[in-house]
Amino acid sequence: MHDNSPQVRARIARFVSERIEPAVYRDRHPLTIEAWEVPGEPVPFREALVQAYAPFSVGQTWGKPWGTTWFHVTGHAPADWDTTGTRLELLIDLGFTAGQSGFQAEGLVYRPDGSVIKAIEPFNAYVPIDPDGSVDVYVEAASNPDVAEGGFTRPTRMGDTLTSGTDPIYSLRHIDIALLDEQVWQLDREFVALRGLMVELPHRTTRPAEIERALERAIDAMDPHDISGTAAVGRAEIAEVLAKPASASAHRITAIGHAHIDSAWLWPVRETIRKCARTFSNVLQLMDIDPDFKFACSSAQQYAWIKEFYPELFERIRVRVAEGRFIPVGGMWVESDTNLISGESMARQFVAGKGFFQREFGVEPKEVWLPDSFGYSGALPQIVTAAGSQHFLTQKISWNETNSFPHSTFLWEGIDGTRVLTHFPPVNTYNSDLSAKELALSEHNYADKGDANSSLVPFGYGDGGGGPTREMLAAAKLTRSLEGSPTVEIESPQQFFERAGAEYAKPPVWTGELYLEFHRGTYTSQARTKRGNRRSESLLREAELWATTAAVRANADYPSAQLEALWHTVLLQQFHDILPGTSIAWVYRVAEAEYARVADELETIISAAIGALGTAAGEQASFNAGPFEIDGIAPLASGVATQAGSVRLERRGDGFALISDRARFELDGTGRIRSAVDLLTGREAVAPGESAAELQLFRDTPTQWEAWDIDVHYQRHGEVISAVDAVSVVADGTDRVTVRFERSFNSSSLSQEFSLSAGSASLEIATQVDWHERQKLLKLAFPLDVRAERAASEVQYGHIYRATHENTSWDSARFETSAHRWMHVSEPGFGVAIANDSTYGHDVTRHPRNGGGSVTMLRQSLLRAPLFPDPDADQGEHRFRASFTVGAEISDAVREGYRLNVPLRSGPGGAIAPLLTVDNPGVVVEAIKLAEDGSGDVVVRLYESLGTREKARVSFNFSVAAIVETDLLEREQSDPAGLTSSGENVAELTLRPFQLVTLRISRA
Ligand SMILES: [Zn+2]
Repeated sequence: MHDNSPQVRARIARFVSERIEPAVYRDRHPLTIEAWEVPGEPVPFREALVQAYAPFSVGQTWGKPWGTTWFHVTGHAPADWDTTGTRLELLIDLGFTAGQSGFQAEGLVYRPDGSVIKAIEPFNAYVPIDPDGSVDVYVEAASNPDVAEGGFTRPTRMGDTLTSGTDPIYSLRHIDIALLDEQVWQLDREFVALRGLMVELPHRTTRPAEIERALERAIDAMDPHDISGTAAVGRAEIAEVLAKPASASAHRITAIGHAHIDSAWLWPVRETIRKCARTFSNVLQLMDIDPDFKFACSSAQQYAWIKEFYPELFERIRVRVAEGRFIPVGGMWVESDTNLISGESMARQFVAGKGFFQREFGVEPKEVWLPDSFGYSGALPQIVTAAGSQHFLTQKISWNETNSFPHSTFLWEGIDGTRVLTHFPPVNTYNSDLSAKELALSEHNYADKGDANSSLVPFGYGDGGGGPTREMLAAAKLTRSLEGSPTVEIESPQQFFERAGAEYAKPPVWTGELYLEFHRGTYTSQARTKRGNRRSESLLREAELWATTAAVRANADYPSAQLEALWHTVLLQQFHDILPGTSIAWVYRVAEAEYARVADELETIISAAIGALGTAAGEQASFNAGPFEIDGIAPLASGVATQAGSVRLERRGDGFALISDRARFELDGTGRIRSAVDLLTGREAVAPGESAAELQLFRDTPTQWEAWDIDVHYQRHGEVISAVDAVSVVADGTDRVTVRFERSFNSSSLSQEFSLSAGSASLEIATQVDWHERQKLLKLAFPLDVRAERAASEVQYGHIYRATHENTSWDSARFETSAHRWMHVSEPGFGVAIANDSTYGHDVTRHPRNGGGSVTMLRQSLLRAPLFPDPDADQGEHRFRASFTVGAEISDAVREGYRLNVPLRSGPGGAIAPLLTVDNPGVVVEAIKLAEDGSGDVVVRLYESLGTREKARVSFNFSVAAIVETDLLEREQSDPAGLTSSGENVAELTLRPFQLVTLRISRA
């Protein structure tokens, strides 16, 4: 037979676009439109309903950026329409662009009684209407601008309502009543499925040829001038190829409806609330018409918004959750970043998230759902397990620039050895449309073929919302069992993980962090928000500790509702586009204000708690909320600070020497550290001929994602900021000495203060910057005379080691990394710790040392200034504190990290004895609080901080009735893993390296 395949396929394509698609709607008719533009921020339906609406016509412009316009639409289907075999629908085009759903205009459609019908979005712009043909609806239309306009580099003022202007950006294209032809719609879906499969299958095999001929016969059978009347005969011609079942070895896909709604990104939080309402109303409408449809939705925060602002929708969701169709997944408050947030924050993401799901729905998600966060901390497996979850899902590592991840389904082993079954959907997206192309990709990329055969595909418009459509559901049904295609079953993620675990006898194991070889700028962008997060985490610790102490000792009220609300605020800002610095300016304006409010409220709670613990008039004390003694004050206690040892300041030429009993730091006249000697060993920490605490300014022009990326080529364009405008001695006392260097460069100015306290081996460096650079990266560099093969970075409840060399492509790709409060490098016998109070980005490299050997260069990334999405990102004032500790073990690094972040607090108050003491400094108290259930039980979280096996005795200084070990959700564990015994007011612990333990103490 002659091969005419190209001609046949071209003929099919033209027939579909010119005959079938235009015939999906048999007829349409315009309606009467009136409009009211909201003058300011969005208003609820009942407020919009009573406004004066003005006549509005198709073609008219509407909608300033971030504005809201309500359209009132009325009318009736023409009396002469034959509605046999049709559905009556409203078709609305707000002036949609060719851009993505969720990145432009969208709307929510209400009945006059205030109930929601569904949303309208590009590619999902219909509204079902009553069979009687009468129309009376209100459309809340959001004129959201497309901030990215297809790129992630161009500066724009569209990202804040303060700068986005007032000119309308959309024009209404149509609002019509229309007749959907059910046969033609179905025919169209079948053509899409079969054509998609045909092009995915290998050419010159039997199946695509069969499909091609069947489609050709269908076209021959139909009358191009009467598609509606002949669609049924067309469908009959393709029925046989559609009915051929999948092969026995077909790849098995679990499809689950999804909408990855970013809690803020290129829109503010207030718009996300409306995006959730729009998407969830679409989902509920689809559930009404398709009993097989299931939808997985993470983020308790998004449900909480619906409960507060759309109670009618929330009740409908509650019904579907009970049916197992609207499925809460993830168990976290939001899909947070996992590189930057503290261990306790990570724990509280689950406490708040799972707590909400259990209270509201009586369900507990067992899979952690983080498809889009920018890399995954090696601490997660233990935290996930301690939160009562078993499985982990992401797809983001498919974005790696350098290395392909070797597994799709595997056991992920964390820093303490805990393993969780993990799946990376090989479709490499969380926004699938279930097209044949994506189903084929899912099978193609699935890395575990031969050993296992299941993958998961989340489908539905995401990022900006929208969710699944009826077209996607049709695709799922048509490919349920279709020869040549993977099979598709709509199932819950839990069902997927159970099968994936059962079918895979010995899954491969990946140990340590899941580092994303991309988006390395997210450890540094928007430094004030990062500082706000760190400060909030420390203040929450202090507030919970002192409020608990006051509740136990003075019977004071514990402000649980207020603390919960503050935690929710902080947990929301940890969302994976807020804290990483990748949102629009509006988001940071709000975030910085929220952090200021959180700090104010927490300061008030702390003062009230300390006040409740009693104080004599004029009495002053120092309060130590940290887990280690500072200046003679015991951990978790207060008293009068005393400084041991001595310190002095000496002038050396145009520089200074700061000398304590433990260390000597020498600064030259340019404010750089030329020498740092550990006086206990005599060891020099600064590499010969180099200087530490050096400010280095780099060109920072990433290729693709402006705020997200630091590209490796930054390293080739750096300069040292060494010029000094002024030098002064700020303090020259017996307890502490401080010298200050002031500098200016380009459009910015900066001061660095170097301080040493009596008896201390840690030089503190306080940097204040008035930053007006663009596309620059500021680093604080420490070239150390240490030969370190690896560097330790603090993560949640522990630390991880990363290689300092570039032997493999994996090591080389890790050229910028995140750390929490400290990093530590060492060779046998000598180490250095570099701690910080709000910095996360770091890099460690090696270079040749003067005189032989190699230098370990450890740098903090202080500031960036990317131009998109916030064109003014990081402009203005910043403060950073760092410390440089010589002769430091890991335990010193841990201690120094706490000291910088939870410093002594001085103020009115008396001596407070600690609620508990721990006899082993390697076992660290991370949180002390009252139980979530309001029982008054005290909850204490501890972890082994050194990576060694430790025993510890925890003694409680209050009357204890019982001590049990719990999970993060404060549920008693039948098989305690860390608590070996408990006696009168005492708990004995035996902990594995980095083991986390939660104790619940009921009071006598
Ligand atoms: Zn996202």
